[in-house]
Amino acid sequence: MVFAPVARPTIAAMTDTREFLDRFWEDEILPSLTDYVAVPNVSVLFDPDWDANGHMEDALQMGKAFMEKHAPNDATLHVGRIPGRTPLLLLDCPGEADGTILMYGHLDKQPEMVGWREGLGPWSPVREGDKLYGRGGADDGYALYCALAALKAVAREGKKRARVVLLVEFSEESGSPDLPAYMETFADVIGSPDLVICLDSGAGNYDQLWSTTSLRGMVGGTLKAEVLTEGVHSGDAGGVVPPPFLILRKLLDPLPEPPPPPTHTPAAPPPLPDPAEAPRPARRSRHRPDHPRGAPRRHPRRAGRAGGGRGGDPGSGHLHPLPLGREHGEAGHSHERTRSEPHLASEPGGDRSGRPAFAGEGR
Ligand SMILES: [Zn+2]
Repeated sequence: MVFAPVARPTIAAMTDTREFLDRFWEDEILPSLTDYVAVPNVSVLFDPDWDANGHMEDALQMGKAFMEKHAPNDATLHVGRIPGRTPLLLLDCPGEADGTILMYGHLDKQPEMVGWREGLGPWSPVREGDKLYGRGGADDGYALYCALAALKAVAREGKKRARVVLLVEFSEESGSPDLPAYMETFADVIGSPDLVICLDSGAGNYDQLWSTTSLRGMVGGTLKAEVLTEGVHSGDAGGVVPPPFLILRKLLDPLPEPPPPPTHTPAAPPPLPDPAEAPRPARRSRHRPDHPRGAPRRHPRRAGRAGGGRGGDPGSGHLHPLPLGREHGEAGHSHERTRSEPHLASEPGGDRSGRPAFAGEGR
């Protein structure tokens, strides 16, 4: 999110308006906002029984009462109640100047969460100095109070203003699932706004007015990478089946910004030797009469050989530790490669014939 300070009004105008707003804030807004903090009206996502629990209705009645007391005399208040959805407050304030301004706020809250300092808590409002602690005062309880205070301040200064529609929803912290239905229901009341002011962002300090000029986007959805139709043991599939993590990363990487164009064309890797044509090394006569071919070796593998034989490339990507008591390669033969011997150490568990070998155990 990017904040930008907004140009200040003249000092003279500010002082008078500032005094009025300070008084209005202290005398009218803070008592109501303090009561609002005590209401545990967590959003529908965190309280599926919100309707039965009634906290959302309490919050609505508080907002409605404040609107009825402080809205301009010619304003009209609509209360939206679509069955099965959270409610909506819509205050239509006619103006003398052209255009329509849509102001926005929400009266549902984030859940309690943890980490409150001793003596503080989500539903027990505490004022310390110029700060009011508790859940929902800043996000986003202040919005409707702020909007009405602004309307009063403009009226006090005798300025003309455009029509203002103040929309307060009750499901924002759950992704505003109910807002589109109300935007349709009240499309005629809202009209075509020329300016939308969302009172639901942050500020860099309390010394000036801040405006959020951009927000990070959000993508919601379920991303699946399916590489197999059934589960197989890791020892059987590594290197043969594409890694799903890599696929997901490739898909997600371009989301923040497209990948930069390559600055150079990487040289093509040398071709892998064709396993079928690879010269088979002369077998050394290690055959022992007491250890027939095909019989599994009993002794543990010698240490330090998991990455291949002496000629193996330690960086070849063979990451599968082989089980003790089983040789990587042909059973019954000591598998020692020479430097001239082609090896396929990057094929996990594969032998030199190109056939996959099953290095796993306990399948
Ligand atoms: Zn919010």
